[in-house]
Parts: sequence; C-alpha cells; structure tokens
Amino acid sequence: MTNNLFTTNPFNSDDEFGDDKLHEECGVFAVFGRNEAAALTALGLHSLQHRGTEGAGVITNDGLNFHQHKAMGKVGDNFNSPDVIEKLPGYAAIGHNRYSTAGKKGVLNIQPFCAELSFGNFALAHNGNFTNAKKMRQELVNRGCIFQSTMDTEILFQLVAQSRAATVPEKLAEALKQVEGASSIVAMDDKNVYGVRDPYGVRPLVLGKLGESEYVLASETCALDIISAEFIRDIEPGEMVILNETGVHSSYPFPKQSQRFCIFEHVYFARPDSVLDGRHVYEVRKSIGRELAKESPVEADLVSPVPDSGVPAAIGYAAQTGLPFEFGIIRNHYVGRTFIEPTDHIRNLGVKLKHNANTASVKGKRVILVDDSIVRGTTSKKIVQMMKDAGATEVHMRIASPPTTNSCFYGVDTPEQDKLMAHKHNIQEMCEMIGADSLAFISIDGLYRSVGEQARNNNTPQFCDACFTGEYPIRIQDSGIEAKATTDKAA
Ligand code: SF4
Repeated sequence: MTNNLFTTNPFNSDDEFGDDKLHEECGVFAVFGRNEAAALTALGLHSLQHRGTEGAGVITNDGLNFHQHKAMGKVGDNFNSPDVIEKLPGYAAIGHNRYSTAGKKGVLNIQPFCAELSFGNFALAHNGNFTNAKKMRQELVNRGCIFQSTMDTEILFQLVAQSRAATVPEKLAEALKQVEGASSIVAMDDKNVYGVRDPYGVRPLVLGKLGESEYVLASETCALDIISAEFIRDIEPGEMVILNETGVHSSYPFPKQSQRFCIFEHVYFARPDSVLDGRHVYEVRKSIGRELAKESPVEADLVSPVPDSGVPAAIGYAAQTGLPFEFGIIRNHYVGRTFIEPTDHIRNLGVKLKHNANTASVKGKRVILVDDSIVRGTTSKKIVQMMKDAGATEVHMRIASPPTTNSCFYGVDTPEQDKLMAHKHNIQEMCEMIGADSLAFISIDGLYRSVGEQARNNNTPQFCDACFTGEYPIRIQDSGIEAKATTDKAA
C-alpha cells in the first residue's frame, strides 16, 4: 500500500509532514458586467488560493444559461486552458476556492452550487461554517430534501429553494436567518449577483469596481489587485449587496450584532498584501512583531522568521530591537503532492522537505525565531532542533499570536481541542517540549494594540478571538457551545 504523505488537509489526515498551521477554509469571488467574467474569476481565485487549494469552481451567466466548471486541485491546473474558459461565456460569474473541513473531499463538494429553482437559475458559494448545520440538515432531510453533497453550504441552497418569500433577495435573507455561524456569501440569479456578510462580519468580503457598471466581490483585496479592479469598500457586517445593470444596491436584512471580525485573518490567514477593514495586513503583522519585542525581549544575535508567514512579524521584531534580520531558515516552495513509502527514516527527514536551516546565518549565533502560531507544536519542535543542528547556540521562539487554546468553528480548519499544544500545556511546558531556550507569545492586549485598538474590550471584544480566549461570539449548536453574551447586542 502506498501512503500519500502530502495531503491538502493535515488535520483531517494522518499526514506526518502536515505544516501544523491553521487553515482558512475558502475564498469567494464574483464579477458582474464584464463579458470576460470567467477569466476574471479564474484570476481572482488564483490570488485567493492561500484560502484553499483543494478544488475550485466557476459558474457564469450569459443571460440565457448558467455554465459551470469545477475541478479538484489548483486553479492554475484547471482553468489554464482557453477551452475551459470558452465554455464559460457570460457577463457575470461567481467562483470559489475550497479547503475542506465541513464535508468530505470530492468534486461534488466543490462550490459554487447551482440549480434551476422555481424562480430561475441560482448559484451560491460560501466562505465560513454554519454552526447549526447538523440540526438544519436533519430538519431538511426530514422534510424530504435530497442532498448531493456533504457541504453545509448546500443547506443554505436548499433553504433558498424552499423559501416562499416573494423575491430572490428575500429568499436569500430568509434562508440566512435560519443558519447560524460565519458566512461571506456570493450568489447569482438570472439578473443579479449578490454578496452577503453575516451580522458579526467574521469572514471578510470586499467590493471593487472594474469600470462603469462592472463590479467585483472578493474575499480579499489581493483578488481585486490581480485584475486591476479598484477597491470600493468592505461589505459591512450584516449587509447584502445586489450588483446588476442599475448599479450596487445595499440593504441590511438581519438583526444588528456587535462586529466580530476574525483577528486571526490579520495574524496569518489573509495575504499580507491585502487590506482588511482599512488595515494593511503587512503593516499589522509588523506591528505585532514590534509589540512582541516590547513585551518579550531577549538577548540574541539575530532575528529570523519561520518563513513565509513569520516574515513581517520578524521584520517588526528586528526593527524594534535593532537586531539584524536574517533568513535562518530557507523554505522550499516546490513541495507538492509526493508519494513516498513512509519509513521512520524518511518520516524524520520530512520537515526538511519544506524548511532547511541556513547554516551561514545561524552557526554560532543566538537566534530569535518568529512564527505566527503554535498549533500542535510538532513543526516547532523540528525547526528548533534544525536550528541547533545547524550550530545555533540558543534558539528563542517568539510567537505572533496568543496561545491557541481553542478550536475554531467559524470556517477555519483546527485540530480537535485536545490536540492543541497550548490547551494541554503551559508556556514553560511548551518551551521544554519544543526544546527552545525560551518561548513567548504576544499577549491578547498586545495583539489588539497591533491592529490599532488600545486594548481588548473584555465586555464587547472588537474581534472574534475565540481560539485564544474561548469566548465564542456565535453559539455552536452542533457542539453545545454557547456564545458569550456581549453588552451591546442591538435588537
Ligand atoms: Fe478566527 Fe479564531 Fe475566531 Fe476562528 S475562533 S474566527 S480563527 S479568531
């Protein structure tokens, strides 16, 4: 039997060489008003692949029919041929990058979903997770619904199909009121493209413009940049926008809630060249490094990132301390799917396929290593050992997020809580387990300062930070976790 050592989902597999990171589940993209909508959507999805590479799908509308192409694997491998794009004519399109957590793998679970409903064609794609999916799915099955996939997104699609509301926006809003959780949605009917963000605004969604009456929706601004679209604004929490021939129409069909954007988007998920809620991600990450240096200084000779995600924070840490910034670790960007018979010897070499020590930088040096997070701790341990094997005399780990003590239920792939190193161990224990000379995490208030707040408002936190604090802003019905009430929940 041959085992695949490299899968796209390290937490849903026995992957020994998984990168031990949290993973964003999905990216969404939509275009209205341009005849090359399919090609633009493929480009947009290409720039959102850090949010998911397991599969991608595009559905277009040419005014008469919907056309679709979905495939497992990377966008560049599946939307690179003129034949594929020519089979996707239309002036409007929606697209989706998938990273599976909710639902199994396979092409049936690739979004967008599309069908002819009572009111015409309808397509839908979603970034996030519904936290009452199990209950809603059972209710729908009891009502006679037949599901084609195991995706929670299909629940929303079925609710739209069953809605008796008069208009499509009303049907979509009615369906969304029945699901709980995090969702940034793009959808399309015969005449319109829709974008919706859940009332807490957990996941991002932005609006851009290509030309007169030509609009774009995307998970992040980096997907606007690739097609030279102008950034207009973030879609607001609880907002629904409709893009059509008469422009952009906005409404707020949901009860207002206190905003809880995912703070981990700033730490790790989003691309550093994106702008989230007016904040440049790259600058926020450098600020995190500066705060970390102020909170947890240590005598050393150089600062090195764990590439690539630790780079901006390490730059900030080095700038704050005046220590040299060096690449003590070189990342191999060409690790892909590889089939190797796993022996213990090969398994132990695994981490070097992705990272290798840069001996010239670290030999005989006291090294501060900056990483974005510690999840299970397996990679941290191997990287510290790699530094020591390369001759580093001391290795001090500095982490650009607070300890990850809780799982995410809002669209991020996390191991079960008891597999999170920080859930079971205190910082001193973690330091000993990974073999570092010291270990420090940024404080939760330091993280809030880095994103421009004075501190965390403990009554009404400005962000979702549940994976660090355990305070879930939205109840997780399927797991029995209740939301922590906040003081300014508006009616
Ligand atoms: Fe983001 Fe963590 Fe909240 Fe999930 S639990 S939405 S990863 S801050």
